[in-house]
Amino acid sequence: MDCIFCKIVAGELPSYKVYEDEKVLAFLDINPVNPGHTLLIPKEHYETTLDTPDELLQAMAAAMKKIAPAVMRAVKADAWNLGVNNGAAAGQIVMHTHWHIIPRFARDEHRLWRGEPYAEGEAARVARHITDNIKA
Ligand code: AMP
Ligand code: ZN
Repeated sequence: MDCIFCKIVAGELPSYKVYEDEKVLAFLDINPVNPGHTLLIPKEHYETTLDTPDELLQAMAAAMKKIAPAVMRAVKADAWNLGVNNGAAAGQIVMHTHWHIIPRFARDEHRLWRGEPYAEGEAARVARHITDNIKA
């Protein structure tokens, strides 16, 4: 399969690995938001978080809880973001499930997303639609 992250798993492309177990792999992002920016992936290929079986998401969550504090300590970060782009419109470029573990510093001035307040009544309507879709 022509997937750069599968090639990293297979050892066909180089990476700076930081963690590996039976199910997941974590390595440095080559274009970090800040040094230590790490990508956590399932070794098996799935396109997005929602395509990924719960068992692998659980393994990713467990690994994330080990890796994020280690990243923080290694680069003396003040905080960290967990970032997930699901789909091209959300900024996903590599179509193999991955979570970004991004160390943050009090004065790094990165703004990862912006927000706009809801118009009057809109929040209640949107919340209801989401809840209805969860029940459906
Ligand atoms: P996304 O936009 O969520 O799909 O993020 C893909 C990330 O993969 C980007 O932050 C890239 O810098 C990173 N990336 C692409 N190719 C490689 C590679 N060969 N090794 C490490 N990171 C990579
Ligand atoms: Zn892949």
